[in-house]
Amino acid sequence: MKYVVCSGCSLLCSDIIVRTGGLFIDEVYGACERGKERFDSVTAKNRITHPQIRKNGKLEKATWEEALNKTIEMIRTSKKPLLYGFSTVTCEAQLKGMELAQKINGFIDSNSSICLGKTLKIARDTGLTFTTLSEAINKADLLVFWGFNPAESIPRLLNKVVFSRGRFRMTGREIKTVVIIDPIKIASFGIFQIRDISLQIKPNADAELINTIKAALETGGELPLEGAAGIDNAELKRFYLNLTEAENGIIFIGQGLLNPLAKINLIEELLKLVNMLNKNQKRGRISIIPVGGHYNMLGFNHVALSFSGKSHSIKFQDNKATDEEPTLISTIQKGDFDFSLIVGTDPISHLPHSLSSKMAAKPLVVIDNKFSATTHLADIVLPSAISGVESAGLAFRLDNVPIELKKIVNPPSNVRSDVEILTDILTRLTTPGGR
Ligand code: SF4
Repeated sequence: MKYVVCSGCSLLCSDIIVRTGGLFIDEVYGACERGKERFDSVTAKNRITHPQIRKNGKLEKATWEEALNKTIEMIRTSKKPLLYGFSTVTCEAQLKGMELAQKINGFIDSNSSICLGKTLKIARDTGLTFTTLSEAINKADLLVFWGFNPAESIPRLLNKVVFSRGRFRMTGREIKTVVIIDPIKIASFGIFQIRDISLQIKPNADAELINTIKAALETGGELPLEGAAGIDNAELKRFYLNLTEAENGIIFIGQGLLNPLAKINLIEELLKLVNMLNKNQKRGRISIIPVGGHYNMLGFNHVALSFSGKSHSIKFQDNKATDEEPTLISTIQKGDFDFSLIVGTDPISHLPHSLSSKMAAKPLVVIDNKFSATTHLADIVLPSAISGVESAGLAFRLDNVPIELKKIVNPPSNVRSDVEILTDILTRLTTPGGR
């Protein structure tokens, strides 16, 4: 039996116990269903166990030598390589991805740029108000979950931050007020007690709610009598009082605040509101924790920032990061790429058909541990170990705390870690004839 970290989601729970004889993971204790699935994926039916190359329209088993040589051939032919994914691999693999993108003058991005990875950049401009899970567990008296369903997306988050007893006081759940802001009655509402606040807002009314609180701060607490954003005056008042009087309030931000239909940047406006609240706060402070799903989405932002000075969407030219700020979407839309290397993600499923079809039409290499829509359309598939289970490395938890992942069992015999695969590609490119 040993304690390990679960890499099933960005909470990176470090209190999981596994029993293993070295070959398989026999038992898992303490993980949620999603985490259990991560450990079970070692023997999943859709596991990729051999390199594959497309021949006559069909993927066929190949040797590593054949698959890597063909990959190098494609990279050498490419003038505009696109590297994408990297949010379910370790920081060490992300760094190798950066080095590769720099070497081949590619554009590199991760899922974080179309998710909450942008928050880091916005927070640099509006003022940093991040906090950690330890603060949430030990000191928080107000927990706001805005724009996501924690009970299903980060299954143990509520257990940890709402139902825990703080180190510095004898009380726990009884002094924590929970606020959930969502247009639908999500499963997380099931944890409500008498003091909690359910804000079932109108769809696409987050901006109206943010602006209403901002206006109230400027007028000494005046809130519209008719309510706002589908919330009545009494509930608005309770929310406002909790925000302005909490000793340690934390707003967990979800993907609902990335709403493309919103006319303003909701994350930016919310961060401005947090700064206004903190200027008005007499007793304590309000902080934020953006909640992304993939276990090391934040790692990519940190690695990218230290490598290039930008936290995502980096375009290299003459082996240097340029000032250009293309996005993954604009790059694909304009057809500004002629080859893709996808690492640990499934863009063919996630992107709209107008974009995924463009990606599928150009040479495509995938590094992943399981079959997906993207591997089914790829020209080359390189099988990778499941990081945090079959390979070790560093990852950043959703509160920006670095966590060390351990290797628990060996990967299947013909499978390599993401770091080994990317290092091998880099090494082959530096041999004579490389670019
Ligand atoms: S909450 Fe996330 S990290 Fe924790 S056990 Fe579940 S999947 Fe794993």
